[in-house]
Amino acid sequence: QKRLKGKVAIVAGAGSTGVDGLGNGKASAVVYAREGASVMLVDLNLEAAEKTRQMIEQEGGTCFAFQANVRQRSDCEAMVQKCLQEYGQIDILHNNVGVEPKTFGGVLNTDDAEWDRVINVNLKSMFITSSAVLPSMLERGSGAILNISSVSAERLSPGLFLYCVSKAGVNTLTKAMALDYADKGIRVNAIMPGLMDTPMVERHKEFYGGDREKMRQLRNERAPMKRMGEAWDVANAALFLVSDEAKYITGQVLAVDGGYLCK
Ligand code: NAD
Repeated sequence: QKRLKGKVAIVAGAGSTGVDGLGNGKASAVVYAREGASVMLVDLNLEAAEKTRQMIEQEGGTCFAFQANVRQRSDCEAMVQKCLQEYGQIDILHNNVGVEPKTFGGVLNTDDAEWDRVINVNLKSMFITSSAVLPSMLERGSGAILNISSVSAERLSPGLFLYCVSKAGVNTLTKAMALDYADKGIRVNAIMPGLMDTPMVERHKEFYGGDREKMRQLRNERAPMKRMGEAWDVANAALFLVSDEAKYITGQVLAVDGGYLCK
């Protein structure tokens, strides 16, 4: 029996940076489809979402791609309408969208526009997508929301304060929403990926003199398991949290970090 048989999932940020790469959102969408879910692949970058669609369709899964900016309420409302029109219900909302600041630096290197951009994309977007999806979930008395946070919510890195603040907000939003909707059949959880080997972190090579291989080697060494995580590691944890196997789990923030936060 497939673990998400009969379920409908919206994955926001289902494409991947670099379009052909494999990020957390893309891997999660693929795993959901493998487990029998019908998946709506939402991304600002339609080309990236279409790549995920191709991957899923090659495996015989059910999905379609949809362009939306999750910072915009009107886009999120259109997203919900389209999902209900195509699949008739929404069981899962997976909020994967997240960006890092344009430049690494402290408060004095950050202007108001950059603060607004990062907080809006990483945190406000989850409030908007959730509020767009919740009425339909409440009507059916069930639903699972999964927010992708980061170990940066708990372990600060110099130069990344804005990202850390936004992800700490995601953790608190997750717990607060879990509490507010626990008696309505809606579960809300989060995952904090750790040091990941995904296209999103390519630009961290800046810290390693632009040397990608050196970056990978040093990041692998920093990880307690001596390797970075794969997008599939996040996707498999996500699968459990959105499935009925986790039906008594809500308000949890799970680190998928190979022990990184234990240090
Ligand atoms: P990714 O960059 O490969 O994919 C994110 C997708 O979101 C992209 O396709 C992008 O086009 C889309 N997107 C960006 N802004 C959008 C918007 N406003 N509306 C709609 N779509 C938008 O990243 P990923 O590997 O899938 O991981 C993303 C999540 O995981 C983020 O929340 C990130 O903070 C978190 N995370 C990642 C890592 C990592 O190393 N990859 C580590 C810790 C946490």
